[in-house]
Amino acid sequence: NTAKKRETLPFQIDGIVINVNNNALFNKLGVAGKSPRAARAFKFSPKQATTKVLDIKLQIGRTGAITPVAVLEPVNVSGVTITRATLHNEDEIERLGIRIGDTVIVERAGDVIPDVAKVLTDLRTGKEKEFHFSKNCPSCLTKLKKLSGEVLWRCPNKNCPAVKRENLYHFVSKKAFDIDGLGPKIIDKLVDEKIITQAVDIFTLKEGDLIPLERFAEKSAKNLTESINKSKKISLSKLIFSLGIRHVGEETANDLADYFGSIDKLKKARKDELEKIGDVGPKIAESIYQWFNTKQNQKFIKELFTSGIEIINKKSKVKNQKLKGLTFVITGVLPTMTREAAIEKIRLFGGEISESLSKMTDFLIVGENSGSKLEKAKKLGIKTINEKDFLAMLK
Ligand SMILES: [Zn+2]
Repeated sequence: NTAKKRETLPFQIDGIVINVNNNALFNKLGVAGKSPRAARAFKFSPKQATTKVLDIKLQIGRTGAITPVAVLEPVNVSGVTITRATLHNEDEIERLGIRIGDTVIVERAGDVIPDVAKVLTDLRTGKEKEFHFSKNCPSCLTKLKKLSGEVLWRCPNKNCPAVKRENLYHFVSKKAFDIDGLGPKIIDKLVDEKIITQAVDIFTLKEGDLIPLERFAEKSAKNLTESINKSKKISLSKLIFSLGIRHVGEETANDLADYFGSIDKLKKARKDELEKIGDVGPKIAESIYQWFNTKQNQKFIKELFTSGIEIINKKSKVKNQKLKGLTFVITGVLPTMTREAAIEKIRLFGGEISESLSKMTDFLIVGENSGSKLEKAKKLGIKTINEKDFLAMLK
């Protein structure tokens, strides 16, 4: 009964506690270990389905990391059609013993990408194919490398076409240059037609370059060049984020922008200087330092500015320090504010925002369709608030 009701609840649950509804009896039953005998936890089975593995592919990310992915026969898991599941890394493939053609149980936990929970080896027909994890990049065939202490293989080729493409997607994405109308599909087209080969080329695109492309009407070409021009005015933090420096997420980019105030100063920063900032540790400092001290990247920055990039310094004057010393994490969709607007508010009032929950988190702001973060917050004893509570804190 509760399993059915679960779908309509405004929050996610992974189980219930069943109690004896009689105080006298409850007490009489006593305690075993730390938990009362009259209360029992009941866990729902996670949201699972059974399907077939059609193929296993290696996917390359922006940093060159290789993730194996299972291509699945489409299957519905709690209302969503799933065609892919992550296999995480080589070790996981070995652990599962998964083969192409296998029947598997896939599982969706919260809002994360589904993964393969179990391989049903009893259903094998003998036609399944073992998967050999190639040690060469699927895109450029360069020998893959694994850094010590890491589980992921990476393509070390700085000019790997697949990595370059992923970086282009990142460069134009919402939190970076935010170029309206320039998504992965159009990037793919522009790269395939060799109209662009690197990010800087985007800023020299003319309507005339776009119109000949298949299905590119005059109007959309005009709209795209307009939004490209608009994007040339960018805040320093977004520019830093767009560079795709390893370990530099939105929050770190913001801290770096606040601290250095210009790309020139950041460019010259020493490692020990970088380590003074926010959550930048030796690993992140090294990554930033290496990035700015690579010739190819220095040339890239130079070209960006010659192509007409202009930094707008919206030094958002901190209004007051009501949220000073407090760290927030947001999960789910807020009723009236966009996530970006909420983040801006937090910063404006002197607070910090983080992507993931930790002991340092003070508040989790919970919206609709919040995922596993809510449970984690409860486990860590972090206060959860809704949008209304949050706005009240600012008054
Ligand atoms: Zn490669």
